[in-house]
Amino acid sequence: MPTTPTDARRGIVLILSSPSGAGKTTLTRMLLQNRDLDLTLSISVTTRQRRSSEVDGIHYRFITQRQFESMRDNGELLEWAEVHGNFYGTPRGPVEEILSRGRDALFDIDYQGTQQVREKMGSDTVTIFILPPSMKELRARLERRAEDTREAIERRLDNARNEIQRWKQYDYVLVNDDLQTSFDDLLAILRAERQRRPRRAKGIEEFVSRLLQE
Ligand code: 5GP
Repeated sequence: MPTTPTDARRGIVLILSSPSGAGKTTLTRMLLQNRDLDLTLSISVTTRQRRSSEVDGIHYRFITQRQFESMRDNGELLEWAEVHGNFYGTPRGPVEEILSRGRDALFDIDYQGTQQVREKMGSDTVTIFILPPSMKELRARLERRAEDTREAIERRLDNARNEIQRWKQYDYVLVNDDLQTSFDDLLAILRAERQRRPRRAKGIEEFVSRLLQE
């Protein structure tokens, strides 16, 4: 939380995208576990079936197709997309709440959602694409996770080839060869983005006017 006017700044919409299995979920968890970073995850709604390791309301809000359509048609979603045959969307309310308090929101969404959020939130967005070190490793990670059926894994691998080509839409691209190195890179990006002048203009303006009165 900002403590002085100098620290006050606009919240960042930090978006991580990658094909499934590139390590994004682990990196997201590492970012959230670091309390000093003060990041708040935007919890998506999805019509996908819950995996055994997932908790409703923490990883996703699992909803029916009908509930999804109702949220979408009532304008309650900031963005939405169909991914791997299921619907996913970002509820608008919680994001507005996070940003209005000057805090940063973390999004784990695909390239379609990223495009929509960027159109709506403009320069508040910072987008990062995470690539796997190889297709072999991507397959191994999906198989190790052992949470999807063989058919779902094949579908995810097919989709990965399409998703990987979207890297050019992003501000930053990481090749996740080593988790700790990727995490350090994410920290560096976040740290630098938090210091960007347009984000800090108001706080710094007040600071500078005090400075010049000394
Ligand atoms: P999974 O089913 O593995 O949890 O997620 C599949 C894909 O859907 C991932 O690439 C993830 O980033 C994306 N995704 C998750 N939530 C959302 C969302 O709210 N909107 C969009 N556009 N994509 C999402």
